[in-house]
Amino acid sequence: MSENQKNDTPGFTCPNCKSFIPLDIETLLMDGDITCPKCRTTFKLDNPPSRDILEKLKSVDKALKKNKGKIQ
Ligand SMILES: [Zn+2]
Repeated sequence: MSENQKNDTPGFTCPNCKSFIPLDIETLLMDGDITCPKCRTTFKLDNPPSRDILEKLKSVDKALKKNKGKIQ
């Protein structure tokens, strides 16, 4: 029940209900659909809301993979 994840969570605002929709890397990488958890509107990633979000996710993913390699 921690709220401090919000700052680091990439995502965008639902154009339908204005809720924050977190994006996860796997969804983005798989070009899947995103469903708003609040209003159930489904978005296609053909038209991503922000390039910055994609770039941020990619760099986070890279960093995660880098760390994984170090640990193992
Ligand atoms: Zn919504």
